[in-house]
Amino acid sequence: MDILVRQNDTFNRYSKLFSVPLLLIVDSNPNVNPNQLNIGQVVKIPGYVAWTYTVQQGDTYWTIHRRFNVPLDALLFINPLIQPNQLTAGMMIRIPSRVENQPNSRAMNYSYAELERDIEELKSKYPFMTVSEVGRSVEGRQLTMIKIGTGSNRVQWNASFHANEWITTPILVSLLDDHLWHLTNSDSSEHQRRMATYEQTSLYVIPMVNPDGVELVINGPSEDNEQKVVAINNGSHDFTGWKANIEGVDLNDQFPAGWEIEKESNNVSAPAPRDYPGVAPLNQPESQAMAELARQIPFNLVIALHTQGEEFYWGYEGLEPPISQRYASLFSASSGYRSVRYVDSHAGYKDWFIYEFRKPGFTFELGSGVNPLHLDQFPEIYAAMAPVFIQSVELLGSD
Ligand SMILES: [Zn+2]
Repeated sequence: MDILVRQNDTFNRYSKLFSVPLLLIVDSNPNVNPNQLNIGQVVKIPGYVAWTYTVQQGDTYWTIHRRFNVPLDALLFINPLIQPNQLTAGMMIRIPSRVENQPNSRAMNYSYAELERDIEELKSKYPFMTVSEVGRSVEGRQLTMIKIGTGSNRVQWNASFHANEWITTPILVSLLDDHLWHLTNSDSSEHQRRMATYEQTSLYVIPMVNPDGVELVINGPSEDNEQKVVAINNGSHDFTGWKANIEGVDLNDQFPAGWEIEKESNNVSAPAPRDYPGVAPLNQPESQAMAELARQIPFNLVIALHTQGEEFYWGYEGLEPPISQRYASLFSASSGYRSVRYVDSHAGYKDWFIYEFRKPGFTFELGSGVNPLHLDQFPEIYAAMAPVFIQSVELLGSD
């Protein structure tokens, strides 16, 4: 929500007026000097939206504040030009209201367009988050990363490496949205816990690693790629079994950690809906971007979301650090998912992350059934992952 600076305003005053932490107001306004506010200057208040209300006969600021559950002083504050005794029917006033928190509202077909729309909306509600591009997909879609927090503990979450596991994207975006809501709302019971993580941890979220594949599974082929993908798909127009990127390369079989072994055991030697590791490791733009990201940012913990199985994997060839086991116990207790140390697989992102950096990496297999999972599992999956999400940013990634 945008407000205009008035005489004698301070960020501290805004923080009290709207029950939003001072630090988040500062971080939402990187180009504003809090010690030098100018009258009429625009300041962003995170966690709020303002909407316009037409005053009805008999309304007063008092009745409006009661009806819409808005603090009276906040209401007066954002309508500085309208004096309380001048309120008359037909006048337009602004009503500040806290953004809503509806974790399960994204149980829907959720492709690239939905993600783009949500990121834009989140950025406008919570301007302290930063959005950047970590690369582009084969078809040129942006691989977007969201960053929250300022701490030296660095945690990465990613989703939708596999196309028909796209439910992981709206789950991850919802976990993030909920976190943002609790951060900005000083009155929430979880606020203190969440806010402590903001200063100690930098959270990086890549919600859709394989946007071209997700688009294919949800909306079908495009004019441009139809011939190619139908051929890769053995002539079928049913793409529900498609995990690969748009070139028929399995992005989670692309990483240089036992890639040769994976290639042998998969025995898929040409582009396919799943399990084809490519002609060489990291020869696809999506896997390249994810590897490059981990080389640039020293993550202390990586969590990759897949479906299905209600379990998670956390070991690779005994190279995982001792602390991975402690995290695994915590995550298993809080999510109810099975903790599995080793699984007979190589060349995945978490395998490579452990192999290359000797830091804790996790692959979570959300929900149960046949991919793509039915959306009625959304609330259950969300409930399992919500405690893992907050735990992941509380943990300090060193042993
Ligand atoms: Zn997967």
